[in-house]
Amino acid sequence: MTIFLDSAGSSLPPREVLDEVIGHLRREAEVGGYVAARERADDLEAGYGVFAELLGARPDEVAFTDSATRSWLTAFDAVPLVAGDRVLFSEAEYAGTAIPILRRAREVGATAEAVPSDAFGQVDVDALKEMLDERVKLVSLVHVPTNSGLVNPAREVAEAAHAVGALVLLDACQSIGQLPVRADELGVDLIAGTGRKWLRGPRGTGVLVVRREAAARMRPRLVDLHSAEWVAPDEIRLRDDARVHEIWESSVADRLGLVAAARYALAKGIDVIEREVGERAQRLRDGLSALPGVTVRDPGVRKAGLVTFTVDGVAAADVRDRLARDGVTVTVSGASSTLLDMTRRGLDEVVRASPHYFVEPAQVDQAVAAVSRCAR
Ligand SMILES: *Cc1c(COP(=O)(O)O)cnc(C)c1O
Repeated sequence: MTIFLDSAGSSLPPREVLDEVIGHLRREAEVGGYVAARERADDLEAGYGVFAELLGARPDEVAFTDSATRSWLTAFDAVPLVAGDRVLFSEAEYAGTAIPILRRAREVGATAEAVPSDAFGQVDVDALKEMLDERVKLVSLVHVPTNSGLVNPAREVAEAAHAVGALVLLDACQSIGQLPVRADELGVDLIAGTGRKWLRGPRGTGVLVVRREAAARMRPRLVDLHSAEWVAPDEIRLRDDARVHEIWESSVADRLGLVAAARYALAKGIDVIEREVGERAQRLRDGLSALPGVTVRDPGVRKAGLVTFTVDGVAAADVRDRLARDGVTVTVSGASSTLLDMTRRGLDEVVRASPHYFVEPAQVDQAVAAVSRCAR
């Protein structure tokens, strides 16, 4: 009935994920959360291997959290920063990561600088190289932003940053589950991702990859009795794997659901998903581009499954609401979520439509027809 075009917001979990989450909640109600978790200990442990496979890392380089933002924040907090250091970030940076960069830089006396975009709207790697020096301790890069179909050149950014010894933290919130995102191929040090978007996992789940070479240079501070051990009255010992970034408490049902979502994506094949999402997104862009009064707003050379557009004279929220009446689910991305990018492009807001592989091409065409009714 509904045409669901919001996998960039919070997607529709498959049956396998739902069964895992609900099944575990029922089991907790029968035997209590501790016993229920013990019964699934092997599956929970196997989850690190599943995400290692998905993200091109080793199982001991994977940590689970309650959101992409939590993953990003815990990693960022562990990167040492002192007065005079520099942090570089992408122009399409999400406000949720730009805000902590700006706040901490001010607090410690470091600088936070945006890397300009090139003519195609991607991070300008030549400009980045000009900016890099030994004072740059971290480059924060959004892989696919929240407000367009852009895919940033992560591998090129990582190579350039590593030449001066800077760590690279990749916000892969919008790419994990729709594109191959592999630490070994991209060469990035840290990857933050969410369950609820393209991976089709439960809300309130996140993953963090910390590569071993990077871990040696980080100082995790937000540690508890899971990430560290109290071994003598005045002595603690931190875990030596990525789980030093986890804390003890978590939703076991959601974790199991997240792992089920990753298994589901791997079984379908990330390359197949990328192709099917890409075909639907391109079909949508082509259809929208042909409509008078509608402008597609996606920069980038390589494009992902987020399709953004504006309709002349119609507010984005009105487009969203009118489409909802026609059974089409989209969302709105406002300027404050990606302030630098939207300001540079002179945009206050865009409508965001993000078709996953489960959206039929005919439904994409119906969505285009619904937008054409808004534009009239
Ligand atoms: C959604 C999003 C986030 C934050 O994800 P949460 O699950 O809300 O923590 C970070 N970066 C980008 C680009 C996003 O689209």
